[in-house]
Amino acid sequence: VTDTTTTAVHFVPDNLPTHIRHYIGGRFVDSVSGKTFDVLDPVSNRTYATAAAGQQEDIDLAVAAATEAFENGPWPRMKARERSRILGRIADAIEAQDARLAELETFDTGLPITQALGQANRAAENFRFFADLIVAQADDTYKVPGSQINYVNRKPVGVAGLITPWNTPFMLESWKLAPALASGCTVVLKPAEFTPLSASLWAGIFAAAGLPDGVFNLVNGIGEEAGDALVKHPGVPLISFTGETTTGQTIYRNCAANLKGMSMELGGKSPAIVFADADLEAAIDSTLFGVFSLNGERCTAGSRILVERTVYEDFCARYAARARNIVVGDPHDPKTEVGALVHPEHYAKVMSYVEIGKTEGRLLAGGGRPAHLAEGNYVSPTVFADVPPTARIFQEEIFGPVVSITPFDTDAEALALANGVKYGLAAYLWTSNLTRAHTFAQAIEAGMVWLNSHNVRDLRTPFGGVKASGLGHEGGYRSIDFYTDQQAVHITL
Ligand code: NAD
Repeated sequence: VTDTTTTAVHFVPDNLPTHIRHYIGGRFVDSVSGKTFDVLDPVSNRTYATAAAGQQEDIDLAVAAATEAFENGPWPRMKARERSRILGRIADAIEAQDARLAELETFDTGLPITQALGQANRAAENFRFFADLIVAQADDTYKVPGSQINYVNRKPVGVAGLITPWNTPFMLESWKLAPALASGCTVVLKPAEFTPLSASLWAGIFAAAGLPDGVFNLVNGIGEEAGDALVKHPGVPLISFTGETTTGQTIYRNCAANLKGMSMELGGKSPAIVFADADLEAAIDSTLFGVFSLNGERCTAGSRILVERTVYEDFCARYAARARNIVVGDPHDPKTEVGALVHPEHYAKVMSYVEIGKTEGRLLAGGGRPAHLAEGNYVSPTVFADVPPTARIFQEEIFGPVVSITPFDTDAEALALANGVKYGLAAYLWTSNLTRAHTFAQAIEAGMVWLNSHNVRDLRTPFGGVKASGLGHEGGYRSIDFYTDQQAVHITL
C-alpha cells in the first residue's frame, strides 16, 4: 500500500493492527482501566494504532500469571534439552517471518528496511545461541579429598522484569527474553511505548513453539506507569533494563526497596580514534557506519571521532563528502541508508543538538532536514568538525545521525579525550600499530573495544558498559548467571 496523501512516498504494510493489547497468561487482553495510548509512525507522524496503557493492576495480573507459571508450571522444571528445543523452534519461527517482522519494525521505528532485516536475524540468533548454551552448561563442583564435596545448584531466579527501549526493539527484547527463558525464568516484558508493534508478534511465536502459557507476559504502557509498577512489584526479584542513563538511575533507586537484582545497559558517547597510521579508507567506512547506521539511534554509536592532526583535514574532507552522499528517505526503500527518527519528540531533541552544534563546531555536512523531505522525522547526516571537549555535542548522547570530529596530537591527548566523558560503553581504534592498539585498548574506559573493526561480536563475549553506560555485563554465561541463583551445597564426607 502506498499512501500518497503526504508529500513523501510512504509505504504502509498490509494488515496493520489498529489496536495493540497486552498478553497475560496466554491471552490477549486490554488494560483493566480501559486506558490506551496512541502509537505513531515516524514518516507521517499520524496515529495508526492505539495500545493498551498498562497500569498497576495490569502489572499485578501479569506478575500473578508469571508467578503461577514459575511455581506450578513445567517451564522451570524442564530438562535443559526440552527447553532448548522450544527455544530452537522460536528461532526458526523468527527466521521464517523475518520479512514481515522487518516490515513492521521499519514502519514503527523508521529504521531502514535492509537494516531491520539484519536485526530480525540477530534476534533469531540470540535464541539459538542460548538454546545451545544451556545444554552445554556445566556448574562448579569441588571435592576436598577425604573431607567434603561442594557443588553448585543453579536455580532460575523467578519472575524476571524486562524493560526495553525503542531502538531495534525486537532484537533488544530477544537479548533479554532468550537468556531469561533459557534459564527457566518466567517473564513480564514492558516494551518501549514509542514502538510496541513488533513486540506484539512474540505471543504468536512463543505459543506456536510450545512455550507454556504464563511463561511470557507482555504489558504495554508508559515507563512512569507500567514500567514503574513492574520495577516496584515485590513479586519480581530482578529487573533487566536497557535505556537512558537517567531512567536507569530512577530504576536503581526504585529497586533498592526490594533489593532487586539489576542489569543495566545504558547510554553512550563512544569514541572512534583514528591514528595517522590507520587504513584511512577503512576507518572512514567504519566510522560512517558507526554513527549513521540504524539512523544513529544506536547505543554503541561512535558519535565522537578523534583524529590525529597530521591526517585531520584529509579525514574531515573525505568523511564529509561521503556523509553528504548518504541516502536519506523512506525507511521501506531498500536504497535508503538513513530513515526517519523514531518519534517527533526525539526528532525535536536531535534537531536541537544540531542547532547547538552550529555554535560549538564547524558544520561540514547536513545541519537540518533534507530539502527533499518536507514531512517525517528526517535529519540529514550531520558532521561537525573542530568540536572542543567542553562542547555539549561532545559530552551528551544525541542518539541520532550527528557526529563530532576533534583533532589530537599525541596518544596521551587522544586517551584523555576518549575518556573525558561520563559514559563508557564502546570504543573503536584505528591504527596499524599492534602495540599501540592493545596498550590503548587496555587504558580506555569502555566496556567494549573494537580494533580496526566494528559490529562483530561473538555472543559468548561480555556485553555492557562502564561508568554511566551501565551496571553488570551480559553475554554468554554472564546472562545465565544474571537470571539464576547459584546455591552452594556442602556435604562432609
Ligand atoms: P528510556 O530510558 O526513555 O526508556 C527505556 C524503557 O524504560 C522504556 O520501555 C520506558 O517506557 C521505560 N521507562 C521509562 N521510565 C521508566 C521508569 N521510571 N520506570 C520504569 N521504566 C521506565 O530509553 P529510550 O529513549 O527508550 O532508549 C534510548 C536509550 O537507550 C539511549 O540512551 C541508548 O543509549 C540506550 N540504549 C542502551 C543500550 C545498551 O546496550 N547499553 C542499548 C540500546 C539503547
